[in-house]
Amino acid sequence: MKKRQTVKLLDLNAQYDSIKSEIDTAIHEVIAQSQYILGPANAQLEQNVAEFCHTRYAVGLNSGTDALIYALRALNIGPGDEVITTPFTFIASAEAIVLVGARPVFADIDPRSYNIDPTKIEKHITDKTKAIIPVHLYGNPADMDSIMDIAKRHNLYVIEDAAQAIGATYHDKVIGSIGTMGCISFFPAKNLGAFGDAGMVTTDDASMEKKIRMWANHGSEKKYYHEFIGDSSRLDNMQAAILLVKLKYIDQWNKKRIERASRYTELLSTASQITTPWVAPETQCVFQQYTIRIPDRDTVQKKLDERGIPTAIHYPLPLHLQPAFQKMNLGYSQGDFPESERAAQEVLSLPIYPELTDEDQDMITREILSLVQ
Ligand SMILES: *Cc1c(COP(=O)(O)O)cnc(C)c1O
Repeated sequence: MKKRQTVKLLDLNAQYDSIKSEIDTAIHEVIAQSQYILGPANAQLEQNVAEFCHTRYAVGLNSGTDALIYALRALNIGPGDEVITTPFTFIASAEAIVLVGARPVFADIDPRSYNIDPTKIEKHITDKTKAIIPVHLYGNPADMDSIMDIAKRHNLYVIEDAAQAIGATYHDKVIGSIGTMGCISFFPAKNLGAFGDAGMVTTDDASMEKKIRMWANHGSEKKYYHEFIGDSSRLDNMQAAILLVKLKYIDQWNKKRIERASRYTELLSTASQITTPWVAPETQCVFQQYTIRIPDRDTVQKKLDERGIPTAIHYPLPLHLQPAFQKMNLGYSQGDFPESERAAQEVLSLPIYPELTDEDQDMITREILSLVQ
């Protein structure tokens, strides 16, 4: 194996190298067919992802962000409606709510899982609330039993933001199959990454499937006949062909991430100042990120960087404090979601990907331990 000079936060070339001939063949097949939009790989990928996620349908879209937007649109959620989500996530989870004209309402997180805390949801429900968007952050499933129970009692839809969690499981269910719909991202850095932007909605509901498909294709089912004003957001056939190859390996790759994660946890177990990831019983986290909590995080990150170890912060500023949401006058200020605010100060994501070597992990953890002990 080629010796790498420096540790990378994510090494997409290592993955490509491992399946290069298959990927190259798939790309050349698409070029030979010259069917770039709504080609044969699209339908096959949708079928395979639906099977993988244990749902009846899956609809390919331009991105995970579009998956969230189209899921909300298909439910007719818009102006005058409220949608509850977590403030500790990538902006897209709440951005989608604003983009359909509805109001994002935040509920604080459980400090162990960094996911929305079900015990903090109900106080935010009003007669305008239409849906909850739990995010399975870092690939770690949210507490779906409690969330589905609240949703049922208040007659709300649940849209799972599964952008980081393809292949994760919660009890006996696959993430993306529990709520009304699941939204997956194939952004290159996600566990199942395309060579560009791509996303998908998973659902058991035939009417949702049909609406989303039409919305993403100019309100059309039959070419050049348009039932309503839609949009253009199809997953292109080239990306689908690449993803079809990669989907065959996702279980294997997720397994390796889980192995890497438990190895990190073991190596870091001697440092009492470090909080390693928590995963609920009967739940499988797929470790899109391996994120620890560490006091004086910024100093540690800076020192690690000086020693050639890249790390990342997911995420440094909770959404309720982001200028984008402050400008909307939602009424939020510092102190409203203390657990999210504290997590934003303390979390640190370490390099993780299936091909990460033992040597690199040993080096990374040795440096971290030398800084905190
Ligand atoms: C990546 C991500 C998205 C958006 O996906 P894109 O494909 O980049 O549009 C949404 N939510 C979360 C939590 C994400 O991590």
